[in-house]
Amino acid sequence: MDFDQTIAAISTAPGVGAIAVVRLSGVNALAIIKSIFRSGDNSSLALELKSHQACHGFIFDIERQDIVDEVVVTAFLSPHSYTGEDIVEISCHGNPLIARRILSVCLIRGARLAQAGEFTRRAFLNGKIDLTQAEAVLDLIQAKTERSSQAALSVLKGDLGPQVEVVRTQLKQLLSAIVASIDFPDEVDQLANEEIESVVEQSLIRLKELARTAHSGKYLREGLKLAIVGRPNAGKSSLLNCLLKVERAIVTDIPGTTRDSLEEQLDINGVPVVLVDTAGIRSTEDHLEKLGIERTKQILGDCQLVLLIADLTCGWQEEEKEILAAIENKPWILLWNKRDLVLPEKINSTRTNSGYADSGKNNQALSCLTISAKTGQGLDQLANQIEKHVFAEGKPPGTSLNARQAALCQKAIEALQLVKKTLVYGMPHDCLATDLKTTLDNLSEIAGLAVSEEVITSVFANFCIGK
Ligand code: GDP
Repeated sequence: MDFDQTIAAISTAPGVGAIAVVRLSGVNALAIIKSIFRSGDNSSLALELKSHQACHGFIFDIERQDIVDEVVVTAFLSPHSYTGEDIVEISCHGNPLIARRILSVCLIRGARLAQAGEFTRRAFLNGKIDLTQAEAVLDLIQAKTERSSQAALSVLKGDLGPQVEVVRTQLKQLLSAIVASIDFPDEVDQLANEEIESVVEQSLIRLKELARTAHSGKYLREGLKLAIVGRPNAGKSSLLNCLLKVERAIVTDIPGTTRDSLEEQLDINGVPVVLVDTAGIRSTEDHLEKLGIERTKQILGDCQLVLLIADLTCGWQEEEKEILAAIENKPWILLWNKRDLVLPEKINSTRTNSGYADSGKNNQALSCLTISAKTGQGLDQLANQIEKHVFAEGKPPGTSLNARQAALCQKAIEALQLVKKTLVYGMPHDCLATDLKTTLDNLSEIAGLAVSEEVITSVFANFCIGK
């Protein structure tokens, strides 16, 4: 990485806004701003910029000899900045033309356009944050619910790194002791197997606990894909509309799709949910038989939780059996809809005589609820059930592993389990060292302590320019 170059980018989102921010980072950030900034009466040179202090003035285009905009400049001097380098933030009026012109003035004065995520990459490479925190920056920017952003913030604050570090330190000490007794058998006593076992066991417990957080972490980051299935008129569209109304829709469309797409995004008890609406299919087909179970299967194939909606006024029929067979082994919730049309005593008898329990299906519903998509009755319970499914391992974790970290954690667990096996088989202690080393390598990679350029590039590939 070319740390001798000063990078610049527009850090605010594209489009018109109250303000836009152009950011500079690097050894020449101060020199560049001093050459283009005029304070007060437009003529005097910039005053000495102090760290963490805002300074009002104007950006001057030397080539064109005119003022670009009235701005506020804030300097964050090394090492007390996001990247660890000198940073200058120019807050200008939020017109993209102005921001672009200020950027271009900075580039003419010697800055280079930053690559995607380069500010955060520099922060990581300068030791300001570890790799888990860098990943959390992206999670925080992309979080779709408050809960997702809280989870990201917790990692960004540095909650995950120390949890991994505790295990790494413990195992590093263990490995050193083992290696010392192998290398210097006359001077260093060999550790008792029980002692090694105890450290390995403690570490395994900690790592498995961390690995479990990946389940909800995945949903909090990527969203839970939820499919509503049911035969025509069961109330699929009504349920979707009701959920959209009740559970504040966060985004109506997923990029690349249109309003009449089958997918909608919702915030259900803080869980970002991508709802796959099979109701859209119905508009082109009259009967389930006609549309075919294959279409339903396609939708089901991609989702992580299924809501099977059945009509209490009709009871359990052949169509429901077919849909149930198509659900296969996906987790699912049975929703008996239109409870507002049915007397309470009839509700129980319909549910009891539904026949779904006798269908010989091994995959039982996670829960069975009676709802009304018309009045909204029962939807709170539904939201709770969805939340329960996502946080299956208990209360929502403060921190949660992402896919990269979870894969490394799993590898560390597997290597540690081999250490345990080696001990059980009573093999010599040199056999432990390799697997302990593998465990340590994987743990180091989680925090980015020993990580290849390729991994770093892939982590920052998803960032936007200016972050
Ligand atoms: P879909 O074909 O499964 O999408 O079903 P719709 O959502 O279009 O609903 C079919 C009909 O049932 C519509 O006339 C809805 O107004 C009605 N409906 C849906 N849910 C309820 C409910 O809970 N109570 C009552 N009374 N009517 C409902």
